[in-house]
Amino acid sequence: MGKDYRQIIADTYASILSQENLGKVPDYIPEIACIDENKFGVSFTDLNGFNFGVGDFEEKFSIQSISKIFALSFTYEKLGEELWKRVDVEPSGTAFNSLVQLEADHGIPRNPFINAGALVICDVLLENCKNPKDEILLYIRELTDDESADFNEKVAASEMQNSFRNAAMANYMKSFGNIRSQPDAVIELYCHLCSIEMSCRQLSKSLLYLANGGKLPGSNKHIISLNKARRINAILLTCGFYDESGEFSFLVGLPGKSGVGGGIIALYPEHYCIAVWSPKLNPKGNSYRGMKFLQEFTMQTRESIF
Ligand code: GLN
Repeated sequence: MGKDYRQIIADTYASILSQENLGKVPDYIPEIACIDENKFGVSFTDLNGFNFGVGDFEEKFSIQSISKIFALSFTYEKLGEELWKRVDVEPSGTAFNSLVQLEADHGIPRNPFINAGALVICDVLLENCKNPKDEILLYIRELTDDESADFNEKVAASEMQNSFRNAAMANYMKSFGNIRSQPDAVIELYCHLCSIEMSCRQLSKSLLYLANGGKLPGSNKHIISLNKARRINAILLTCGFYDESGEFSFLVGLPGKSGVGGGIIALYPEHYCIAVWSPKLNPKGNSYRGMKFLQEFTMQTRESIF
């Protein structure tokens, strides 16, 4: 007998909703600081196309660092193993916007899911694509089989004006030769990717290929190779939540990724993908309710990769 995911999700949602909503909406990107902090949505999609959502699961929000998965996947497929000369695959144990390791590591970021790593990926995109913004957007639209994912120019502009830390990282890595384009162009692309808006429903569909050995579930089209999909999942598990990655792996046990817009996406290989959105963040920069929801969800399903 299959599990009743619908029931588990509805019950878990109700349970989390009845508890305190702690945490804080980030204030360093003015355009997302004004979001209604009680928004809460969950969407589940399995490899057979069964979808179930609760709450604000159809409302679009700023996916922020979740976009780092799409940028990595697209770039890795294009460049292959060469990519790892410019960015490592080790957990950082530091905040997403930390600069502290870059000097000791000679400008090679610890992994592609912290800001420094994503900036390098953006630089690689600028070197290898004619129009990286459009190409990534088309990629996401193909993954969701839906044309509506888009940039929010206001959020991108707001972040560009407040990108002091990201600019510091990009300039610093340029001094080591690990950023090749102009730092401003890298920041511009990075902020646009962070500004992409998607709903939980779209997000839960968009990563099914990583739960399906790199293939789109409907058409079986190869998005990336099986080995690359496995490797991205490994980086998601070890680095997807910055210095809370160990905790997420310990409590939830699924590869996943968060963003400061309050979104979290997690996947159970060979089975499904689940996205949660709740804007208030815990001190590590991950959605407070999102973490709690997924912890309780996997306790109920007793499913993890372990
Ligand atoms: N746009 C955010 C930043 O660069 C993304 C960080 C995140 O979502 N963790 O600070």
